[in-house]
Amino acid sequence: MKTVILATNNAHKVSEISNALDFPGWEFKTLRQMGIDSDPEEDADTFLGNARIKAQAAHEASGGMAALADDSGLAVDALDGAPGVYSSRYAGETATDEDNNQKLLEDLKGVSDPERTARFVCTLVFIDEDGAEMTAYGTVEGRIGFEPQGEGGFGYDPLFWPDVFEGACTLAEVPQERKNEVSHRGNALRELRAKLAQAAQ
Ligand code: IMP
Repeated sequence: MKTVILATNNAHKVSEISNALDFPGWEFKTLRQMGIDSDPEEDADTFLGNARIKAQAAHEASGGMAALADDSGLAVDALDGAPGVYSSRYAGETATDEDNNQKLLEDLKGVSDPERTARFVCTLVFIDEDGAEMTAYGTVEGRIGFEPQGEGGFGYDPLFWPDVFEGACTLAEVPQERKNEVSHRGNALRELRAKLAQAAQ
């Protein structure tokens, strides 16, 4: 059995990752499940930099086990890529998803629908037992709405209208499996899966 430490305690991400990387003999454990205390400061200015900090910390704290970390966020064109790496704390260090969504709507006041283009971005960093690093990247393009819509998902999902849904609904209005088919994290995981499968040949 190959155990991969996931540098997250987010249950949504854990099930999405273990479903996507369904290699025989692989199992995934969160830091908490392994009894490992690792909470490094994510102070890089890129998604890749922050994912690398988390993966490296989990790899080292586990004494050299395989580790996987993701870092993700929203980039809005009319805001020059903000909130970007500050997505989770856009409205302040203790901001809730609702606070962040409200701030985003405020900052986009007066911006018309065609100008509200945005994308979710996800970067994955996988570090193997021997320290070798593999990275993957995924995005989903869309637009920011004018008010929250939908109860599912998390974060900015109720404001995000993916282009592939052609105006039918936000990312918060579809089941998790449908979201995974189109999402930045789903796309990054599919790329990582392909790279890992190729490396194993
Ligand atoms: P993290 O990668 O878990 O640190 O996510 C950073 C932040 O980006 C989250 O707190 C959300 O605000 C936002 N975010 C990342 N992925 C998603 C998503 O799939 N839907 C909505 N918001 C997201």
